[in-house]
Amino acid sequence: MNKLVCTNCNELYNEETETGRCSSCDEPLEVEAITDGKIADDFPMENGIFNRYASFFPFLDLDKAVSLGEGATPLVQIDYGIEDAKGIKLYIKNEGMNPTWSFKDRGTLTGLLHAKAKGYKKIGTVSTGNMAASVAAYAARAGLQATILVKEEMAEEKIGPIGIYGPRLIRVKGNYRTLYSESIRLGKENDIYFINSDAPYRVEGYKTTAFEIFEQLGGKVPDYVIVPTSAGGNFRGIEKGFRELYFSGISSRMPTFIASQAKGCNPIVRAFESGSEEVQQLNEFGTIAHAIENPYPPSGNQVLRLIRKNGGMAVDVEEEDIIGHQRILAKAGIFVQPASATSLAAAYKLMAEGKIDSNSEVVCIATASGLKFTESLKHHTIPVESCNIEELEKRLR
Ligand SMILES: [Zn+2]
Repeated sequence: MNKLVCTNCNELYNEETETGRCSSCDEPLEVEAITDGKIADDFPMENGIFNRYASFFPFLDLDKAVSLGEGATPLVQIDYGIEDAKGIKLYIKNEGMNPTWSFKDRGTLTGLLHAKAKGYKKIGTVSTGNMAASVAAYAARAGLQATILVKEEMAEEKIGPIGIYGPRLIRVKGNYRTLYSESIRLGKENDIYFINSDAPYRVEGYKTTAFEIFEQLGGKVPDYVIVPTSAGGNFRGIEKGFRELYFSGISSRMPTFIASQAKGCNPIVRAFESGSEEVQQLNEFGTIAHAIENPYPPSGNQVLRLIRKNGGMAVDVEEEDIIGHQRILAKAGIFVQPASATSLAAAYKLMAEGKIDSNSEVVCIATASGLKFTESLKHHTIPVESCNIEELEKRLR
């Protein structure tokens, strides 16, 4: 069995702790890095990507019956315009193409498989949307009971797409960060395995995003990877994937990592810019990028450590730029939710400031489909014409 290691003080653990974090320093744990991973020479369309990368998951019993065909999402090169002169290539990793239309499915699968291996019959999560739908769907697929804790004020229209999978849904009044730790503690007492945002075995699933990008670029590591960052789980998983490729001798270097946030909720950017080692909780916040609206990210400090280790950056973007880049992506044929547009908006900001090197390859992660939050459409002007059928000929001329 692989050990868990503290991301901050390197203390080793055989099992997940009571809090799911380090007992000494309270920072998040991660599964010890794989140093002898191999990419299988198989046909991923038939066996799925988790079997292709199975040697990076020695602790999981990869049960095909639980998979919904997660991953294998498109990497699409887009033309932005301003990058041409400098030879910069921009790519969008479209995670909205997952079974429940967000990146969460990769981590839900690994978290669920770990829960099953530990003998749990019930899983749960604390979420504002994407992760709730993902956990509910995978629990339904695996025949496990899901307990989903959502914020009391969560809109009714967001409840339906979670409830359709048949989970136990509980609206909880109170502080979201407290709910995160309470769910893990109470879950352990009640035999419910909570696969929260940065749970070690959820983070593992996001390594596959890195493996896919590497393969989709023809066995190359991109120069920059920009990740919309909330709790920090996806950021950590993608970094770990590239790290394990490097440790295993499959790649020869690491990308530079950039966390993108909305200016309206930017605790990691604030800490990065002030040179602080710790993320401070924001008391006032608000952004249209709801999916990354986390005022006190549980893996925020680890994201800061990873950014600084690799010479990376944390960048925030204005509301109008989020909407603007949602529009730009739609014009490129990709409809994303507002949070997903922050990565491209950050790329644009950095290119304009001359902070992206010439002739480099930049991968922007687009975390979820725009259909998950259609309310954002009200921020766009969508012209519609109408006419009688007799007038149509004239109109189309
Ligand atoms: Zn520690």
